[in-house]
Parts: sequence; structure tokens; C-alpha cells
Amino acid sequence: MVITIDGPAGVGKTTTAKKLAKKLEFRYLDTGAMYRAITYFFIKNNVDINSEEMVANFLDLLELEVDFPIDNQTKIVLGNKNISDDIRKKEVTDNVSKVSALEKVREKTVRLQKKIVNNNDFVVEGRDIGTVVFPNAEYKFFLTADYDVRAKRRSKDFSKVDENLQIDDIKKDLIERDEIDSNRTLSPLKRAEDAIVIDTSNCTIDEQVDKIYNYIKKV
Ligand code: C5P
Repeated sequence: MVITIDGPAGVGKTTTAKKLAKKLEFRYLDTGAMYRAITYFFIKNNVDINSEEMVANFLDLLELEVDFPIDNQTKIVLGNKNISDDIRKKEVTDNVSKVSALEKVREKTVRLQKKIVNNNDFVVEGRDIGTVVFPNAEYKFFLTADYDVRAKRRSKDFSKVDENLQIDDIKKDLIERDEIDSNRTLSPLKRAEDAIVIDTSNCTIDEQVDKIYNYIKKV
């Protein structure tokens, strides 16, 4: 069974997906981490994202290993380097929306996502999971929250990788990233028509996990 959780940045998708998967004894997949890893790889190799040829060549060279264990930290390995923390930094966050809008990048990641899930029990989170990647998923959820709450949550994420940023700057960046993610031509951030919307502004993570869990279990 596949359960999809989509929504913008800072609504708690990753933590929710992880906790929900644990409760259901499913595995989980954080697709944003894959776009971040490719962005990191492009930055480190000075890939000009306006050059289709260069993008295609570097995607062919990409050796990405992803592991999302329920009880341990997410592990993203590029070549031989563990880049799990590097992909959360501002440099990557600032560029990821431009990279994830590229057709070749999406083709590659979506192919990988389908291969990883391969008809197993998964909670998959991202932006286009219920609309494009797994449109036939059994349960679809779309999380939202107001910008101030989201900025505060993202501020905590940044401090975990030793970056202390101003809340107002984070909020501005979130608005800008939503704008690009929602208006791109390919697989924009959008609620699937059959997705259940959950506003997480006033919920703790456990409350939002319970809401989804109870819905699935029809409690
Ligand atoms: O969820 P997270 O903030 O880590 O996602 C980083 C970026 O990856 C998003 O801003 C978006 O540009 C891209 N993304 C996407 N499609 C997904 C997941 C993430 O385009 N399914």
C-alpha cells in the first residue's frame, strides 16, 4: 500500500511520514532529499543548469544511494561521501527549486522513486507524489500551515546543521520557493483532487500523525 503526503516546505511532512510509517510498520521515502542531493552534486560540479547537455551528462554520472531507516538518521550517499547534513544547508535550499524544475532531473528521480517503492508498503512524501508519481495511491494527504509556523519549524531544521538564520529571511525564502514550486510547468506543487487536507498550524507532530493514522484505520 502507498500513502502519499504532499505539501510545501516546513509543514512537517518528513517527521510525519517517518512517524506514520513506524506506526504502520511501513517504510518511508523523503523525495525532497533526492532533489536536494542532485542540487548538491550540481553545485559541487559547477553544472550550468541552463545547459541541457551538461545537466544530462552529469545526471548520467550521478551515483546516488538513499536509505531512509525508521529508527536512524536518513542517509544520502553520493559517490563515497555521506551528504545527509550538507543537503539541508542554505546553499542547497536556495537552489533546489530551480534544479527540481528541470525535466531530466524529474525523469530520473521519479524513475528512482518508483523503483524504490516497487509495490511495497510505503509512506512517500514530497510535492507531486499524489498527483504524478503515485496517482493511484490508496491514501493521499496534503499538509498545509501558515507561514510563521513554517518559518519557525525551518529555523529549527537549519540550526541542526549549524546554520542560524533570521526568521524573516527564512519566511521570505519559503514564499519564494513555494512560488517556484507551485508555478513550474512540470509536476507543480498541487493538492491531488482526492487528497485530504490537514492544516498543521496548531498541531503537534504527534497530533498530525494521529489524525492521518486514525483516518487510515477509520478509528
Ligand atoms: O521537502 P524539501 O523541502 O526537502 O524539498 C526540497 C525541494 O525539492 C522542494 O522545494 C522542491 O523544489 C523539490 N521537490 C520536488 N518534488 C518533490 C519533492 C521535493 O520538486 N516530490
